[in-house]
Amino acid sequence: MKKLVFATNNLNKLKEVQALMPKDITLLSLKDIECFEDIPETKDTIEGNAIQKAEYVKTHYGFDCFADDTGLETDALNGDPGVYSARYAGPQKNAEDNMNKLLEALTNIENRSAHFKTVIALSLGSDIKTFTGICEGVITNNKHGEKGFGYDPIFRPNGYEDTFAEMDLSLKNKIGHRGKAITQLIDFLT
Ligand code: IMP
Repeated sequence: MKKLVFATNNLNKLKEVQALMPKDITLLSLKDIECFEDIPETKDTIEGNAIQKAEYVKTHYGFDCFADDTGLETDALNGDPGVYSARYAGPQKNAEDNMNKLLEALTNIENRSAHFKTVIALSLGSDIKTFTGICEGVITNNKHGEKGFGYDPIFRPNGYEDTFAEMDLSLKNKIGHRGKAITQLIDFLT
């Protein structure tokens, strides 16, 4: 039985991904390896942060590990909020404030194209490998829907009438950035 750390404290995420893993791999959370510190995320790219987190666990705890990092990149704002998505409107990391700031920044801007990007970095033995999932869409003019989290109420994926916050989670997972990156990770490990 191989042990692999998923650098998360979110047990729902852990369970979901464990269910998709090959049977000979057991996922461990940060709590399982008694990692209770804030892992540094100080790089200025999404890839950089994912790699930093996976390598940190490998270096300090000795386990093979994967870590994910996600951001929302808008074309008209040169990729903002990007790697700063969580704290776009300030260190309080408030989703409403972040959405309001983005809607404000896009006022009267016609090009509302954007995409979510998730990078998973896998530190396996002495190798590091990355998997990228992208979901293209647009930023709506107003918030729609109550489901999900973060920027979901203002992101409508291409080809759909609903925002992520109006969709069932199963559909969001199927077409979404994180699901696509996880599928690539699982394909690699299987
Ligand atoms: P994290 O890397 O998964 O912590 O994501 C960073 C930030 O991106 C979050 O705090 C959210 O603001 C935003 N975000 C990430 N994934 C999603 C998503 O699936 N929907 C909406 N916002 C997201």
